Amino acid sequence: MTEKSKIHVDACRFCWMCRHICPIGNATGLERNTSRARALGLSLVNRGTYKLEEVVENLYECACCGACTKECVTGYDPVMFTREARLDAAMEGILPEYINVLIDNCMETGNAYGITEVDASLQEAMARHTEKTDTLLFLGVDARYKVPQAAIDAMKVLKKAGVSFTVLSKEPASGQQLEYLIGAASETKEQMTACAKELNAYERIVAFDPQDASVFKREYKELGVELTAEVVTFTRFVSDLVKTGALTARNSGKAVVYQDPFQLARDLGETEEARSVINAYAVCGEMLMHGKDTMWAGNLLMKEWMPEVMAQVALDRISNAKGVAADTIVTASVSEYASLKAVNQTEVKIVSLEELILGL
Ligand code: SF4
Ligand code: SF4
Repeated sequence: MTEKSKIHVDACRFCWMCRHICPIGNATGLERNTSRARALGLSLVNRGTYKLEEVVENLYECACCGACTKECVTGYDPVMFTREARLDAAMEGILPEYINVLIDNCMETGNAYGITEVDASLQEAMARHTEKTDTLLFLGVDARYKVPQAAIDAMKVLKKAGVSFTVLSKEPASGQQLEYLIGAASETKEQMTACAKELNAYERIVAFDPQDASVFKREYKELGVELTAEVVTFTRFVSDLVKTGALTARNSGKAVVYQDPFQLARDLGETEEARSVINAYAVCGEMLMHGKDTMWAGNLLMKEWMPEVMAQVALDRISNAKGVAADTIVTASVSEYASLKAVNQTEVKIVSLEELILGL
């Protein structure tokens, strides 16, 4: 572990000041799911009292959502040392078997789920946009393999605005899943480099999934992967389409709340783009923990090994909407949309930004 991470580990290990904002800790109620407990375990590894394999599972009980880092008034960063410890564990060959399976899938199929076939209706929709244009709509693995209707709806939105765009029938993996699983490993960098090579054939990349947008704009730079194409988040792109009138909106006056994806709000500082779109079609209110203070609502990747916890994380977020008497949450992340939708409840409707625009 780097000296910098060791300092952060030692600072966090006896501190509890951010425990209340961890979506996983709140869902499980377990002390082990706090930044400080993770740090305490790693501090014992650094001192030779524990072996890394004794705490390795705990490293994968963190979403790397950055809520703790944002909350920390003293500037310490649990995400940094968690990612670094995952890379150490990968290099030592001591990762849990359920993580190894996902990594192998990423390497073999480009997605952690190991899915090789794209849904037929999505294939059909993609086939209409294979011609090369200046703008590439990058769908991402969650939309392509898990929520194909979201990908279809994203294409419909751009088409409605008269945008000429390309979708790749064989989209390369962005490396976001590998980056989450094993951090800055050489395999992650190789996947990112291969992806950048294809993306650089375009002038502009519209990243549909905030998870991809975040790695394109941050981790590619950190790892020295050259991406010359301009990267725009889907929400920013659509907000510009609304502003210029390319997308004409009729406001229903319906009150909704917006679930900020942490990748947009914290990683990229984009909180207003989606709100400006929502306010063109409805009226955007706020629930507890919004904007840069957003509370993560779960994802599809962690559902692979923590399904019950993901269900509780999503349920907790829905209860935040209920807390302000909101009956509709608008999402801008495929993964959070799927996570919230999977909760068996009828009181709060879950609507994607695309569905709001298309009036679905
Ligand atoms: S991130 Fe900051 S607030 Fe959270 S445990 Fe570490 S030192 Fe404490
Ligand atoms: S990064 Fe998020 S999930 Fe991980 S400890 Fe911090 S608040 Fe919890």
